Amino acid sequence: QELFVDSLKDIYYAEKSIVKALPKMQKAATSEQLVTAFEQHLVVTKGQVERLEQVFESIGEKVGSKKCEAIEGLIKEAESIIEDTDEGTSTRDVGLILGAQKVEHYEIASYGGLRQLAVTLGYTAAAELLQQTLDEEKQTDLLLTDIAENNINYQAAGEEE
Ligand code: FE
Ligand code: FE
Ligand code: FE
Repeated sequence: QELFVDSLKDIYYAEKSIVKALPKMQKAATSEQLVTAFEQHLVVTKGQVERLEQVFESIGEKVGSKKCEAIEGLIKEAESIIEDTDEGTSTRDVGLILGAQKVEHYEIASYGGLRQLAVTLGYTAAAELLQQTLDEEKQTDLLLTDIAENNINYQAAGEEE
């Protein structure tokens, strides 16, 4: 029970950090498709923050956040990709996708585990809410793969060093 609540606080912190990071990633992106993907995921992520608040409520716990070292590291990594690549290049876009997918995978792992814990603890409503977010993160991951595979990777391969 305590571990479950602590882990909810961790992902709540992470989602709020992602809300702050996505506009920077959107600004750094060049491909229209990627800009739109970041834009849309920002809207979705804000909804996920609210959904987590519903999760806390559904189990009778106060909303709280606890520093997530993993997301701090992943966001730092994405920022360093921006620093290390040139503006307006597909190479930067590839880097942004790589960074964003690492974030999505962290979320997928977290929500998968949390959903399972909710089921085990008998929190049916919470489990359903966590499943909804898990599905959104998986969809985003697939969309990013699609953008990379269908366009950007080829364009980046043609760019000079
Ligand atoms: Fe999220
Ligand atoms: Fe964490
Ligand atoms: Fe996400």
